[in-house]
Amino acid sequence: MTPPPKDVYALGDVPELGQVPPTMLAQVIRGERFGEPLEAFKEETVPVPDIGPRDVLVYVMAAGVNYNNVWAAMGIPIDVIKNRQKKGEKEDFHIGGSDASGVVWKVGKDVTNVKVGDEVVVHCGMWNHDDPWVTAGKDPMFAPSQIIWGYESNWGSFAQFTKVQDHQCLPKPTHLTWEEAAAYMLVGATAYRMLHGWPPNVVGPGDPVLIWGGAGGLGSMAIQIVKAAGGRAVAVVAGEDKVEYCKNLGAVGVIDRRKFSHWGMLPRWTNELDYGVWLKGARDFGKAFWEALGEKRSPVIVFEHPGENTIPTSGMMCETGGMVVICAGTTGYNATLDLRYHWMRQKRLQGSHFANDVQCAGINKLVMEGKVDPCLSRTFGFAGTGECHQLMRDNKHPSGNMAILVNAPRTGLKTVDEVKAAFAAGGAGA
Ligand code: NAP
Repeated sequence: MTPPPKDVYALGDVPELGQVPPTMLAQVIRGERFGEPLEAFKEETVPVPDIGPRDVLVYVMAAGVNYNNVWAAMGIPIDVIKNRQKKGEKEDFHIGGSDASGVVWKVGKDVTNVKVGDEVVVHCGMWNHDDPWVTAGKDPMFAPSQIIWGYESNWGSFAQFTKVQDHQCLPKPTHLTWEEAAAYMLVGATAYRMLHGWPPNVVGPGDPVLIWGGAGGLGSMAIQIVKAAGGRAVAVVAGEDKVEYCKNLGAVGVIDRRKFSHWGMLPRWTNELDYGVWLKGARDFGKAFWEALGEKRSPVIVFEHPGENTIPTSGMMCETGGMVVICAGTTGYNATLDLRYHWMRQKRLQGSHFANDVQCAGINKLVMEGKVDPCLSRTFGFAGTGECHQLMRDNKHPSGNMAILVNAPRTGLKTVDEVKAAFAAGGAGA
């Protein structure tokens, strides 16, 4: 006989398949705790969310760690809780987490693509199914209703259950552990769209590509995607230890940015002295790229995310007709470009943000085929949610991607049965 559901389950105490308790454990951010991530996240017991006709409730085994919930914890550049309340949502807290691996536990009445018991990874692109932009078959990442799950939406993966839309669920690669499967989708799909989503500037065989932050979450994915397409990635890093890391992922060369000092916004073009110093720095960096590539060719795609500090250099070195594609401004939001080079050499500066369903399926296929590794570097227990975000905030996190065990009681497990056995054996901790 099926036992009645408990009010709340311990982490890893797997309920009967499909049985949903009224409450769950979650790592919660509240407005009064906005600030350093270490203090902002606290474990609380909260209601399990209701789901709509096209929604899916996923029992979370592991969650991925991304920069967006550093921002959410700090309440900058936006207060995600107040933003949702303005749209009519009642919760006065935020459950973040934009990457997950887990099991489909309940489906809405109109869901057809997954069923209870399916093992899945979740991508973080959400949009209204009835948004006229979406129903017209256009790229949903441009839709007015598009938001990022676990950042702009509540009920992310730092909780025992997460509420997602049906199309966000993709098959979990069976060769990966729960924590590996939770680590790659957000950064991998973002990098995939940046490198494959903006024709005609898409990566192809032999193409030189410059990748900033090559040992970071996005960069580690980008190097592998470029390699899988037959391109030649040159990575930029700060630190000796990261050079080998990038080469092992498939970078043909690596530049240590600490050898250069021309970073920051462009000096005004009328200031010949300062501009000349900047130009020399940028040209030296360009030469370092040729050396790392082993050929005097410029990058046809520059993979950007540091933003303010690096974009003048990215714009200068990009090949004629090439593209600087950017998805963030970690060092600042003011982009300065020498427009003379930009128009005469007909370059493209392209903004890019996460990915659509096709692009998410594209990166998942590369992972399933073993062409892209999730680059999981460190796994934390559920109580370590604040700590890993703090490390990221301080740029002291390890190379690659981090994950958090939610219901999975320990690392190395790949199926629900393994989770049940490990819980029964009392195996806890990352
Ligand atoms: P990450 O793992 O921290 O990697 C970022 C890398 O940037 C670091 O490894 C660092 O490498 C490099 N970096 C830091 N300061 C730099 C500087 N001053 N100049 C040049 N490089 C610098 O973070 P991530 O997950 O890759 O994310 C990076 C940014 O992209 C974040 O702001 C994140 O919010 C954003 N993002 C946006 C989207 C989107 O869809 N729009 C998706 C994913 C991420 P070195 O110190 O070794 O150079």
